[in-house]
Amino acid sequence: MSLSVNSMKRLEFHIIYRCVDRCVFCSEEFHMREFGGFPVSREEILGMLEAKREEGFDHVTLTGGEPTLYPKFWEIAAFAKRIGYRVFVISNGSALANQGYAEKLLPYVDELCLSVHGPNKKIHDQATRVSGSFDKLMLAMRHISHFGNLNFLMINHVVTRLNVSVIPETLDVLSRNGKLDQFLVSNITPHGGGGAHYKDLAVRHQEITRHLPKLHELAQERRVALRFYGIPVCLLGPYWRYSNDLFYSPRTTIARARLENGKIGWHFENTEFSSREKFYPEDCGHCALKGRCGGIYWDYTQLFESEALKPWTVQSLRALSPTGVLA
Ligand code: SF4
Repeated sequence: MSLSVNSMKRLEFHIIYRCVDRCVFCSEEFHMREFGGFPVSREEILGMLEAKREEGFDHVTLTGGEPTLYPKFWEIAAFAKRIGYRVFVISNGSALANQGYAEKLLPYVDELCLSVHGPNKKIHDQATRVSGSFDKLMLAMRHISHFGNLNFLMINHVVTRLNVSVIPETLDVLSRNGKLDQFLVSNITPHGGGGAHYKDLAVRHQEITRHLPKLHELAQERRVALRFYGIPVCLLGPYWRYSNDLFYSPRTTIARARLENGKIGWHFENTEFSSREKFYPEDCGHCALKGRCGGIYWDYTQLFESEALKPWTVQSLRALSPTGVLA
């Protein structure tokens, strides 16, 4: 079992704007509507991978939409691996449910993130709005066990009102086979479809953080790394080291965009820390983690009464950390 290497030069590449699921919180919903009808050519994708490799990028996240929907996607993953990238794929598992497909793709995948939003088909399929999506994920998990040679397998569990009460159950179900390296609890991001439906889906931070002791216990027992995204670090209290913000690797994202001349082209964005849709309220003051913690979602502060943020001092962090070393 090994975790991702944070020192690599990372690229996040959106290669397709189609998906078979219709997740209620999808941050790419509007992009898929706008760009879904304009597929990117294989030559353009391979050319971009080559050019960025020459610039020194050595880790690529292939995402979408659902990247496995790209025709013969395994050839793109194979090309990326051949020219020296570590290949990370983010997927809903639908294609990997097919054994033949899994056998073709998995040899070229170093790291895989599967999107799982509940411990059973009732809850997960309600989030994806596609009946049968959970069953496919479970099949995909089985194929990954048999045919995968992954360095890293993670689950991204997006939290909404639909599943907030069963987060530990989801970790329990997905970690039973001993193959899981990381479980990421992602608070819904107010972006794209997640922004449009935010007031109907968002939950208070406390509804998530109340599970921390149970999740900690389970993660320790199953030897799974636990991470939280979209929650201010200070609200994790003694579990602050589980914040995904502290592990964020700077990256360049390449995505489709409408250019100034009205044509569709590429948008390049460099991000240094986990700041998407977030800000620092006055309460953050001189917090010792400002710049590593991304702050709080602006939309969250508009929907719920303000949170009691607790800015860290070096002393308060040391008091919670036996070694006195920041994560
Ligand atoms: S006080 Fe602000 S910067 Fe500090 S951990 Fe909390 S939200 Fe993050």
